[in-house]
Amino acid sequence: MTMRRRLVVGNWKMHGLCAQSAALARGVRDGARALAHAQGMRAAEIVLCPPFTQLTNVHRLLVDASGDARSPSNETTLAPGQVGLGAQDCHVGSFGAYTGDVSAAMLADVGATHVILGHSERRLGHGEIDSLVRDKAASAMEAGLTPIICLGETQKEREAGQATARVSSQIMRSVPDGFAGVIAYEPIWAIGTGAAATLDDIAAIAAPIRTALRERLGPAGDDVRLLYGGSVTPKEAPGILGLGAVDGVLVGGASLQIEKFLAIAEAA
Ligand code: PEP
Repeated sequence: MTMRRRLVVGNWKMHGLCAQSAALARGVRDGARALAHAQGMRAAEIVLCPPFTQLTNVHRLLVDASGDARSPSNETTLAPGQVGLGAQDCHVGSFGAYTGDVSAAMLADVGATHVILGHSERRLGHGEIDSLVRDKAASAMEAGLTPIICLGETQKEREAGQATARVSSQIMRSVPDGFAGVIAYEPIWAIGTGAAATLDDIAAIAAPIRTALRERLGPAGDDVRLLYGGSVTPKEAPGILGLGAVDGVLVGGASLQIEKFLAIAEAA
């Protein structure tokens, strides 16, 4: 098993005009450098996922600082202080008559290193199903991007005692062969609600997620990084990141505030 380095991902969702995005990216870039200076190789990898329209703007600021982080065909490795760039979705194809869509090749072309796939807001709002997420992840890897596949149960599934079955089945169906990416466990009831899952909840589900990853990928399932996402703030971060089973966090709301996001990265 390879060492799983800590990873902190900021999902800006549909937020960010030019000036605000540049300020946020600059703040995170400078903070990441400072953290790398203070923590050395212990510093977590950091990835920012702005909306499509801000990828080039943010990339320009990140690359000026640290060089291009892309590494085709393998999971992207970011040097301490280097901030990766992620998109929030991609189309399954490379090019073609798909009005309004953006492909993984196009994302890589503007400097993206990562792409979030299967976020619950896309599964619910755009009818994305596991098999589509799996095919998108395969396309992303082919384009040299690291896919971050999101999964998690609804409140109703949780109350019915179906959380483990739900996430295990999402792993089996959403993860492509030869997966070189990241899994983000994001219970839907904890996203944007201000009520993060408890440490016991997270620890309890992390074990079956890891088991499903081994079942799906064999020993390589141990190399996949597992993130927690859902109302993470600097208050919860140290506890969550202290769980041995969690390799990092996916942060929504708090990633729009430089100090909060950097405090979370520092805790990682
Ligand atoms: C997310 O949408 O991926 C997320 C984790 O959001 P928040 O941190 O705002 O709950």
